[in-house]
Amino acid sequence: MTDRSATAAELVAAVPGLARYLRPATLLHPYAAAPDPRASRIGGPALWPAGEPWPHCTAGHPDDAYRTAPRPSADGTAMVTLAHVRAEDAPHLPWPPGADRLQVLWCPNDHDELQGERYYYGPNVALHWQCAADLAPVTPPPPRQSEEEYLPTPCALRPEQVLDLPDRDELPAGLHAAATEFTELQGIEYQRDPGRADGWKLGGWPSWNSTDLVPVDCDCGARMVHLLTVESGDDPDLSVGRHGELHVFVCPVDLTHPVGLDLQ
Ligand SMILES: [Zn+2]
Ligand SMILES: [Zn+2]
Repeated sequence: MTDRSATAAELVAAVPGLARYLRPATLLHPYAAAPDPRASRIGGPALWPAGEPWPHCTAGHPDDAYRTAPRPSADGTAMVTLAHVRAEDAPHLPWPPGADRLQVLWCPNDHDELQGERYYYGPNVALHWQCAADLAPVTPPPPRQSEEEYLPTPCALRPEQVLDLPDRDELPAGLHAAATEFTELQGIEYQRDPGRADGWKLGGWPSWNSTDLVPVDCDCGARMVHLLTVESGDDPDLSVGRHGELHVFVCPVDLTHPVGLDLQ
């Protein structure tokens, strides 16, 4: 009973009402290694379309005032590669036509005034849906400033496809009660959220283990969808929030709308 997808499948077999809540997800299972630049990975070498400028963060940083270095100019601070994802490792993501690589870049500093983000204090995240044929090795400028805990140790991944069920906060009370009763009857160790997979993950559902459910809505009004969970820990040696999780959400109406961010 250690296989998460089997657990979710068993739950759905026992409680059919859960079926409509199943979402595909990819567990990433990062481990420190020099990753193949063309493989799905955390951190590692930069790849970027030839002739396009490397992205910079121009948002304000609350720590700027306490640093002796000059404040970032309009040129901003260079972003760093957080994750590089091949479409075949996460086919369930909302890939735009022609895109087969997702690059998640972040500004490795704290931010407290990002557009559309309330109660957020952490890295600035940007998604780039790209085509592998366009990407070439580049040497981006190092960030002008950075927090050590936001600079990932390069990691290779063992992508695992699973089916994910939501946190109990996102389920009707009757369904959660039925799922919990089933786990108890089966002698499965009680989980607060039976069927929800933990750790670094693409797609699926976010956890709400330190706050209650906080709906993440786009400025356009759409309820945003979980895209990525970043977990604090040894590999890739990152720490977000209070050594918790960072959730990145996307707008289901338009992928170009700014991402939603939540810390747990
Ligand atoms: Zn920044
Ligand atoms: Zn939107």
